[in-house]
This record gives sequence, structure tokens and C-alpha cells, in this order.
Amino acid sequence: MNFQIENATPFLNRLEKELNPPQFQAVTYTDGPLLVLAGAGSGKTRVITYRIAYLIAVKRLAPWNILAVTFTNKAAGEMKERVDVILRHSLRGLWLGTFHSLCARILRYDGKAIGIDPRFSIYDTTDQGAAIKRAMAVCNVSPKEAKPAAILAMISKAKNRLEWPEQFEENARDEYEVRAARVYKTYQAILRENNALDFDDLLIEAVRLLLHKPEVGETYQKRFQHILVDEYQDTNHPQYLFLRELAKHHNRICAVGDDDQSIYRWRGADIRNILEFERDFSNVKIIRLEQNYRSTRNILAAAGHLVQQNSGRHKKTLWTDKEDGEKLGIVRLPDEISEAIWILNEVSRLYTEKSTPYGRMAVFYRTNVQSRLFEEECIKRGVPYRLIGNIAFYERKEIKDVLAYCRLLINPADMVSFQRIVNLPKRKLGAKAVQCLMDYASLMKLPILKAAKTIREEKHEATIHPTTRERFYLFSTLFQKWHSQTKTLSLPTLIETIVNDCGYSAMLEEDNDPQSQARLDNIHEFITAAMQFEKRFDAEIPSPVDTIVKLAAFLENVALVSQIDQLQEGEDALILMTLHGAKGLEFPYVFIAGMEEGLFPHSKSLDSKEAIEEERRLCYVGITRGQMRVVLTHVESRRLYGRSEWTRPSRFLQEIPDRFVEELCWSDAKPSLYHPPGVMEAFVSFGGDSGDWRKEQFEPGDMVNHRSFGFGVVLGVEGEGGRARVTVDFQEIGKKTVIQEFAKLTKV
Ligand code: ATP
Ligand code: MG
Repeated sequence: MNFQIENATPFLNRLEKELNPPQFQAVTYTDGPLLVLAGAGSGKTRVITYRIAYLIAVKRLAPWNILAVTFTNKAAGEMKERVDVILRHSLRGLWLGTFHSLCARILRYDGKAIGIDPRFSIYDTTDQGAAIKRAMAVCNVSPKEAKPAAILAMISKAKNRLEWPEQFEENARDEYEVRAARVYKTYQAILRENNALDFDDLLIEAVRLLLHKPEVGETYQKRFQHILVDEYQDTNHPQYLFLRELAKHHNRICAVGDDDQSIYRWRGADIRNILEFERDFSNVKIIRLEQNYRSTRNILAAAGHLVQQNSGRHKKTLWTDKEDGEKLGIVRLPDEISEAIWILNEVSRLYTEKSTPYGRMAVFYRTNVQSRLFEEECIKRGVPYRLIGNIAFYERKEIKDVLAYCRLLINPADMVSFQRIVNLPKRKLGAKAVQCLMDYASLMKLPILKAAKTIREEKHEATIHPTTRERFYLFSTLFQKWHSQTKTLSLPTLIETIVNDCGYSAMLEEDNDPQSQARLDNIHEFITAAMQFEKRFDAEIPSPVDTIVKLAAFLENVALVSQIDQLQEGEDALILMTLHGAKGLEFPYVFIAGMEEGLFPHSKSLDSKEAIEEERRLCYVGITRGQMRVVLTHVESRRLYGRSEWTRPSRFLQEIPDRFVEELCWSDAKPSLYHPPGVMEAFVSFGGDSGDWRKEQFEPGDMVNHRSFGFGVVLGVEGEGGRARVTVDFQEIGKKTVIQEFAKLTKV
């Protein structure tokens, strides 16, 4: 295939127009190793993108002679698109991806040389957790002696130092490390047995391949004539070695980075790589970019003052010819719910008043659990959103499990939920026995939970062993007990009781998999959601209501929340993501939620200066994503992981000089601009209640009025009184099913 582009001159002219002089220099310098060190938004990624285009268009390189490394798959995709736009040329054969994906590719092609079967599977954290527990059992190391997560971390560190079990054992300083070495060895054996590699293995095996099989190394060294690396500040040692090996003959490597944005040191990223780069590659050219094209002057200055508090950083100049722009907004709110409401008010206002597409606005937070309230608030208002890099809250396994318990409590005939949890945690109820019980229930026309209870007495039922029948019975008694408690327990306490009684929380607590702790946290977050729901419910429905009714309403609410259609790629949607995920991206409007001590900076960083500095860099990354406006919110008291606590504003807020900041208050977001009331209002209706709705009886064809949905025609009714489920075709919003107790429909 011919990759000649007719004439390079117009292309070069174009580059000169679209790049400033140092950027142009960085794109076109090909005489040796190049390091671009520059602050946020100065065009580092732009340099990489244009450089790929330049190499192909002007230097006549074939795309397959280029290797480009980015930090996330999302960034890789975006970069490919951008090169495509600049070049309008086939990029077939270009290797552009993350370190992990590129190493995996090399190992699939050539791993055989070091004994790796090309069909290997890649183990994620959950798989790793399982493997390490097996390894510990084999080595007689109980989880009480050493936490599996701690041993995994130790192994990962060793791997990052390129220490194999043998060396690790040799270097062991005490008995603990000797035993850890044995576990490490067994863990590797288990991975091998399963033909699997973990994430660290991908990197170090690729490095090993390049180092120890010169003939393989040479093919790649010859193939990749140019190597480009974005976000260089976050590479770790094996990644560095990988690059060094590939580039060692020709030295044509271009790395761009910003030491102020290194946010993965806890994961082994090593800032020394920047220093080693200068040592290992001779005649390194260093180019600095100083003009920021992204943000207004206020945003840039605020971020700059913040990061200056860090010691041990390279001093940098960063300027912009943009206007001052709006000051950074800081908002103090009573609690996390008002925080979500405030931010969504502001999002709605920008959308309606300024016609800002949702996709130009982003909400960042420090921890994943913070996303739930934003998700809920979006859904209530019908604001489309996209949650990046994370499974939606109600889609998580542990939440679905707990929901299944709750559903079965309400609906004893719910076979799907029954099947999901009858043996979770393990109750020695195998799939076969469960199937037999389900057949029996269908045959006898019994709700599955009832069948579980009565099967014990079933004299003629021979397919299920009596011990197993006894176990089914015991399982059913759990639900009996919870039913009897629905009159006395509050909604959150009921759910907590369920989670405890059924053994689910104990199962997670005993399990030392690091994911289990996160799962427990999520369950606490779910209980918090129930508490918040009950509060709203009680405020709206004054008469005492059995908790089972509340649970039904809560589940219905959750069902609607989790049913949100998957957004199509490219559809306009508000972006929700963690600060870590935001690296490299930019948005006109940025909201950073949860600016509180203990949350951001995170509590686990509070006792180390270095960790605080990393948090500060993360904050710098967050603020510098903003192009036009950045708003930081913090709350007086926050309920997180099921506990409510008074909080103090983040120190980072104080570190931004007052002149770049304006304090906003609750009323600055205009509640009148709410979008049409959504899900929650469908259940929890409004005050001024005469109680007449209780007496209403509906029939299909009746014309009714709903406080927020307006007029509609009844299509169908199930049940009666407050619990009646009425399906109505509303004139404005179409078909909806509501519960009369909450909807309070009146006949017209
Ligand atoms: P970060 O440190 O956040 O990764 P970066 O240094 O990689 O930032 P880019 O994302 O490449 O910066 O650029 C920031 C923004 O400025 C982008 O929208 C980019 O298109 C724009 N930009 C960069 N250089 C120029 C230029 N010379 N002319 C016009 N726009 C530019
Ligand atoms: Mg970038």
C-alpha cells in the first residue's frame, strides 16, 4: 500500500498555523529523544496527535512503524479520531493503546518464546482475589495471619521491581516475607495452571520477552521507528523499561508529561522516570510549552496557586491569552442531597437558559459511591447522564443481591430473585435441588417461598433429600421473621436486618478480597438511600404506614431508577466521573463535589505529606479540566457509607486565594427551573392533603387528575384503596403506573 501524501508543504503550512512555535518544534523534531514537560492544557496531547500525523504525512512513515501509548482506552480512541481528522488517511497498522493492551498484544503474538500460551486469559482484581486465597490455603497461611489484599499488594510491588518469587524469597527479610514468597510462588503457579496473567504480568512478561529474547526484541525495535508516550508522569518502572528496550537502538522516543498531574504514585508510578529518561537516552531535547489554550485566566490562576503549595515540583510558567472569565464558585450546602440538587439545578439552568448541551458539563467526585445521588437526581429530572468508568450503582452485583432479598420478601412468588439468593451466601442448596423445588412449586401452584417452607412436610417428595428440604425450610423462616418485623422496624433497619440475618454481610466481612470491602460500603450506601427515601416518604404521608409498603415503594423507585435506557454513544448527556478518570479531558463547565476534609483530601491520605500532595495534584487535575467555569461544592454534614458526619471544608479551598473565588449560596441556583417532576414525585406526592383520594375507586375510562402529571385517562386498575396500582394515559407524559397512596389521583 502506498502511503505517500502528494505534497508535504501545504501540510507543514497547516501545522504552522495550528501549532504555536514550541509545539511546532516538538511535533517536527525527530533528531533524537524528546521530552515535553508542560502544564495542563498546554497542548501536550495535541503535540502527540499532530506528531503522528506529521510522521506519516511528511516523514513518510507507514502507520505500522509508529507506537503510541496513552493512559486510558478512552484517550486512545479519542486520539485515533483526532489523527484521522487531521490526516484523512488510513491509519491501518498503527499501534495506539494503553501499556496493558499493547503488551497483551505483543504477548499474544510472541509470548510463546517465553512459554506463554497465546490464548492466555487476563485476570482482573476479582479473579486475583480468588487466586490469592487459593494460594494462601495451599500454603497454610490463614487470612487472619495476613490479609490477602496485603499479600497481593506485596506481590504487585515485587513484580514492579521485576522480582520473581525466587529473588523475592532470597531478599526476604523476615519470616513473614518468607511465607509471602511461598504464597507468591504458589499464586504464580495457579495463574500458570489456568493459563492466566494478571495486569502486572502483562507488563513484566512483555519486558522479559524483549530483554531475554533478542530476536523477538529486534523485530519490535525495527518495526517501531517512532515511539510516542502521553501522560508520561504516570508510568511505572516496568513501563519505563518497556519503552527503553523498544527505543534503545534508534532513540526516537517522544514523551510528554506534567509532574504536577502525577496521580498514580500509590500504584507505583515513578516520577524518577523523568530523571532516568535524561540519563538513559543521550542528548535528550527538552521542550517546554507555556501557553494554556484551555481555561480562563481565573481558572488557571486558581489551579496554579493551589499546586504551588506542593514542595518538590518543577517550577513552571503557564499563561493564557483568554479573558479572566468567571471566578471559581464555592458553594456550602447543608448536606449531600442538597449538593446534588444544587448542582443539578445549575446544570438545568445552563441547559435551559444558555442552551449548553449536557455533554459540555461534568461532575467530578473523589470516590465512586458519591455518584449515586447525582444519578438519582438526574433521573428524577429526566436529565440524561453518562457514568464513566463505573457500573451504575443499582447495577452492581451486591446491590442486586440485596434487592433480590427485598423483592422476595414482598413477592414470595418471585422465582428469579429466589434463584439468585437461595444459595447466597452458601447454604448447600445446589442448582439441582433448587430446580427440583421450582418444579414442585410450579406443579403445586405454590409461591416459591411457600414451597420452600412446605417441602419439609411433603412425604411423597422423593427427589429432594430430607436434609436439603430442612435447609429450604430454614431459608423460608428468615422471611417469616422479617415479615413479622415490618411493623416495628424502620425501612433502613429492616434492610440492615435482612443483610445481617441472611449472612450476606458476614460473608463479605470474612472474605478478605479487597472488593468485598467496597461491596460492604456500597450496601451501606444502599441503606442510606433507603433512609433518605423513608424521610421523604414520612414527610409526605403523615399516617403511619407498614414498613412493607414503604419497601414496595422504595423498590419501585429503584426499579425505575435502574431502568434508565442505556445511552447511545454520542448522545448528549451530563458526564459523571471520578477525578482520576478525568485526566486528560476538558469540559466548559466543571463541578467538583465533596470538597471536604476526609473525602478530598481522602481520609487515607491525611497522615502523610506525600499523600496529601498527591491529593492536591488530583485537585489541580480536576480544576484544570474546566474551560469556562468551575464550581466546587462542600457540605456541612455528609452521610457516607451509612454514617452521617459533620465535616470541615477541604484545605484545598483555603489554598485558593480569595480574589479568584466567589462564594455562592443555595438560592443562586434557581429552583424554579426544575425540569418536570419525575420518578420520586410519582410516589411521594405533595402536601395539602384532604384524604379524599383514599376513597377514590377507579375504573378504566375514568378521567383523573394528578398533581404533577396533569390529566389522564385510566387504562387499568389493580387492587383497591391506597394500594391500588392505577395505570393512566396522561395527556402530557403518556402511560405511567402509579400507586394511589402516593399519587393521590382524583377523579375529574
Ligand atoms: P493535559 O495536561 O490536561 O493533558 P494537554 O497539555 O494535553 O493537557 P491538550 O489537551 O493537548 O493539552 O490541549 C488543551 C486544549 O487546547 C485542547 O482543546 C487543544 O485542542 C487546545 N490547543 C492546544 N494547543 C493549541 C493551539 N496551538 N491552538 C489552538 N488550540 C490549541
Ligand atoms: Mg493531555
